[in-house]
Amino acid sequence: MPSPPLRARADSVRTRVSDAPRQLWAVYAVLGVVLLGYFVSLILRDTGQSTRLIDGWLVAAFELLLSGLCLARAFGPRRGRAMPLVLGGGLLSWSIGDIILTAESSGGAGPPTPSFADLFYLGFYPLVYVALILLMRRHITTLVPSTWLDGAVAGLGVAGVCACFAFTTILQTVGGDAAALATNLAYPIGDVLLLVLVVGGTAILPGRRNPQWLMLAGACALNAAGDTFNLFESTGATSHVATIFNGIAWPTSILLISASVWLRPGQANPLLAQRTASFLLPALGACAGVGILFVGSLHPVQSVAIGLATATMLTVGVRLALSVRRLRSLTEKRHRQAITDELTGLGNRRHLFYLLNAFFTDQADPRTAPRRLSLLFIDLDHFKEINDSFGHAAGDELLRQLGPRLSGSLRDSDVLVRVGGDELAVVTLDTDAAYAAEIAGRLMAKLREPFVLGAVSVRISAAMGIATAPADAADSAGLLRCADLAMYRAKSGPSPIELYSREVDDGGNQMGLVEDLRVAVEAGRFELHFQPQVDLRTREICGVEALLRWPHPRLGLVTPLDFLPLAEEAGLMTRLTEIVLDSALRECAAWHAAGRPLTVSVNISVSNLLDPAFLGTVRVALATHRLHPSSLILEITETTMIRDFDACKLVIAQLRDLGLGVSLDDFGAGFTSLAYLGSLAVSELKLDRTFITGLASGDEGRDLALVRATIDLGHALAMRVVAEGVEDDATLELLRDVGCDVAQGYHIGRPLPAGDLDIPSARPQAVAEPALAATG
Ligand code: C2E
Ligand code: CA
Ligand code: CA
Repeated sequence: MPSPPLRARADSVRTRVSDAPRQLWAVYAVLGVVLLGYFVSLILRDTGQSTRLIDGWLVAAFELLLSGLCLARAFGPRRGRAMPLVLGGGLLSWSIGDIILTAESSGGAGPPTPSFADLFYLGFYPLVYVALILLMRRHITTLVPSTWLDGAVAGLGVAGVCACFAFTTILQTVGGDAAALATNLAYPIGDVLLLVLVVGGTAILPGRRNPQWLMLAGACALNAAGDTFNLFESTGATSHVATIFNGIAWPTSILLISASVWLRPGQANPLLAQRTASFLLPALGACAGVGILFVGSLHPVQSVAIGLATATMLTVGVRLALSVRRLRSLTEKRHRQAITDELTGLGNRRHLFYLLNAFFTDQADPRTAPRRLSLLFIDLDHFKEINDSFGHAAGDELLRQLGPRLSGSLRDSDVLVRVGGDELAVVTLDTDAAYAAEIAGRLMAKLREPFVLGAVSVRISAAMGIATAPADAADSAGLLRCADLAMYRAKSGPSPIELYSREVDDGGNQMGLVEDLRVAVEAGRFELHFQPQVDLRTREICGVEALLRWPHPRLGLVTPLDFLPLAEEAGLMTRLTEIVLDSALRECAAWHAAGRPLTVSVNISVSNLLDPAFLGTVRVALATHRLHPSSLILEITETTMIRDFDACKLVIAQLRDLGLGVSLDDFGAGFTSLAYLGSLAVSELKLDRTFITGLASGDEGRDLALVRATIDLGHALAMRVVAEGVEDDATLELLRDVGCDVAQGYHIGRPLPAGDLDIPSARPQAVAEPALAATG
């Protein structure tokens, strides 16, 4: 069934403020009119013209009827019956009091004090308190002590003011009879307590639109006012207005109380609960308390009022003490939160700087003994792929497991923090780089143990860089930069843990390097090396892979892993790939011309693949060198593609349509699922080096099984399978045995400039052109 439109549903929620059937509201309306009539009659009659029939029996009957209506709500089908039941009981008690009073005052005799009627009148109070508390409890689910105290301050303050007047009057009127005095005092005390509750409740109820509470609170206030006027009347200070008010206040109050139970309690709004209740009423209460105590110091004031004012101020004091305590704990909590990483519970980047700054500030003081601090910077490898392949929940889970796992390898005084993303850092005090390197080794071993993330088990690795203070840097940012540079070198070099070295790492000063790189790209000052690939069936060289080198004036020949990320970041990748393509195809064309139809494999990055102009660039480059597209193979690393998989998939298909080959590089190092692989139009799988190295040593039987299975998989998908990183003859033979198509590696040939390659040509006169420097 279709649900009603949202708008209509919202309206129906808004308009339903009452639980009563229409007829019932008609009854209340008639009773209201009757009350109005009674009000008019009170105005028209003279002060002395009170009749027992109208002012006694009829009023009592009126109240009895309203009590009944109120109780009826308790026996209805709806939930929340306790409140109307108790409240109806209170009204009934009051009405019975009226009936008894009317009966007792028959024959013109005034009722005795205390009378039997007082018992029922006074019974009204406790029942109404309970009802009010029940109602408050329904609205305030989470009530902190400070909220209660706010209510108490507001209520006590207002009650104090009322007590100033009411109690004076009573004590002036009532004679020495203890029972009479107690009875007469019970009313104002009851009223004062009722006021405390009503005003306090209004002060603390969140949100103002609660018609039920407001109606009930108004009625109770009216009742208290009626009592006050009754007091004035009994002192003899009767006026016509007081009589009218005295006559009308109680029936009106009872009418309102009775009707209020049929109103819907205002919807509890969970959003409002966050907002603290208004501070106006508690503030007024506090002012009243101060005012009474002040006046009390100059003039005699009722001791009850002084007591209430003192209670108000004591409550204010407790409330303030609570506030201060809460504020302090809140400040501490905020500070803790500010330096804690929410996900892992470890310290965050801010915490790291906090510690480092404290260290450097301390060391800047000439009076403190010099100390040493080591910073170990850790960057996880392939973390992005774990997120992309298994979902962010798995990535989060891995990060959460890091803290407990790594902390076990540290001293209590060492601090492990999450710097951000997949970067962690360890700060150790009073240790040297050797100790830091030792714990780095231990942490690395821990990191390499598999992580169980739900149903899957994942292995990761990391790169770590170490810097020490004061040797390497004199401030926090400098130390972090040093550790970061060392880590960066670990990422691209053979060792996953590196110590910062000024000579090496500042040579790679990133900003300077980027500028150098920009100049090199503009001038086309690069070299291209070529690594031969052998066809395992014919045992002949069938192609080459073009590998980029950057001859840096100061650093020497820089390997691609050291500068490609910079090129990517600086937006130089498009131009760089154009240079490589042009140069590689130029060499290729030369080999073709020399009678060696080799293929050339060129590495491209995802940013190339996603560049809309890339397809055109490839087409133009092929046309320029008059090469058939099948001579070119573009290699794209499996792990980099996952993020924009769909877009990459599309471009790969378009490249294949051009007629050239596309190779999935470093296959097996990432987490490409079989489902992904099946949908990619690649022509070649290039097995990652890690599976191939050590293949022949025999102790990696699983690697051989994996290689064999991957070759079969590639063949089943009509892909050529290339093994890279072949470093010995045994591996080469093994690969041939398991049906691998092509092999590449130091054993076959190292990457070399085209001119140095030992590729027997069919036409000896062909000479390879010099490398890129000339192509610019
Ligand atoms: P890759 O595509 O996996 O290239 C193979 C890397 O393994 C090369 O490192 C190569 O020198 C090295 N290698 C070859 N045979 C062996 C062996 O038997 N044993 C060992 N241990 N290593 C071997 P290189 O030249 O440093 O290249 C690193 C990576 O840089 C390449 O990995 C490739 O992803 C990227 N790259 C290289 N040239 C370019 C380029 O022109 N453009 C782009 N976008 N990336 C490039
Ligand atoms: Ca490659
Ligand atoms: Ca590779």
